Amino acid sequence: MFGTLDIGIDLGTCNTLIFVKGKGIVLNEPSVVAVERGTKKIVAVGTDAKLMLNKTPENIMAIRPLRDGVIADIESTEKMLRYFIYRVFPRYKLIKPRMVIGVPSCITEVERRAVEESAYKSGAKEVHVIDESLAAAIGADIPINEPAGHMVLDIGGGTTEISVLSLGGMVVTSAIRIGGDEFDESIIKYIRSVHNLIIGNQMAERLKITIGNASPDYATKFPAHKAIEKLEVRGNDAITGLPRRLEIDSVEVREAIKDPVTAIIDEIKTVLGKTPPELAADIVDRGIVMAGGGSLLKGLDRLIVKETGVPAIIADQPELCVALGAGKYIDYIKGSDLTKNIYDRLNG
Ligand code: ADP
Ligand code: MG
Repeated sequence: MFGTLDIGIDLGTCNTLIFVKGKGIVLNEPSVVAVERGTKKIVAVGTDAKLMLNKTPENIMAIRPLRDGVIADIESTEKMLRYFIYRVFPRYKLIKPRMVIGVPSCITEVERRAVEESAYKSGAKEVHVIDESLAAAIGADIPINEPAGHMVLDIGGGTTEISVLSLGGMVVTSAIRIGGDEFDESIIKYIRSVHNLIIGNQMAERLKITIGNASPDYATKFPAHKAIEKLEVRGNDAITGLPRRLEIDSVEVREAIKDPVTAIIDEIKTVLGKTPPELAADIVDRGIVMAGGGSLLKGLDRLIVKETGVPAIIADQPELCVALGAGKYIDYIKGSDLTKNIYDRLNG
């Protein structure tokens, strides 16, 4: 006989991860689908499709269905999710897993239902679609059931979510459509306006990850890192259109991403301002827990501390938190249900 199988899915704007209880992370691929124009036939999904982004011939279109959260992309979201689940569970019909899927809180109700539907269609026997902030908090091992305030900051590709949790629920929550992608866009704009060079998204992301930082003192413990770092980029000259190389340094990248970084910090301040004082005091003691790939931007934790006065701690493996938390969610609700049953007995 097959036992129960619990799986957690992080359906992110950039990456989709699948966690299987007892096995760990079994899939981690870009949330990208390549379809044939007109027929809408799937040509590639995940890593293969990402390689096609911005490089597709006219009849093929590579899209990131969750990035802009538009209704028109529901179909691709569904197909992508089903593809990933089939990849991991070719024998899905025999197993019937319980699935918990963490989604950005700003997706529409229609999209949420579409995600739930596609999970059932892929063979799940039980589906829970939950906010990724909640999943990130569970995945970061935050004791969210305590009567104490905890803040989670999840910076993804297309969105940033900030939530204050206490007693297992969200007290204050906010989601903005600014994340790592916006940093890349800002780098592209900066290099175009300052250097007349047009670079692609992947080049911009590479600049951000390798030499980008939010604060120059990001590694004062390692003085060697304080030196200005440089990276050569290639792109097209904005005037002649011809290919050209250019060396960019870390100071320029920091300047380029200043606006989106500031927008995230401002949102943290707004959420702190809306947090009841007792919980805010807990957050000052415990710190803001940072999750999502975007929280790996060098120096961002330091800048948050400097700007808000609240400590910021990057979770262990911040990119995996949502998937891990979604995987643990069922145990977590089972625990809460047990307590609730006892209360119900006391009250009834
Ligand atoms: P989502 O949950 O929206 O799918 P992720 O949590 O996977 O997003 O984060 C993806 C974002 O994190 C991308 O914008 C990516 O460029 C960024 N990112 C990943 N690693 C780093 C890093 N080391 N430094 C800065 N940004 C990073
Ligand atoms: Mg995410």
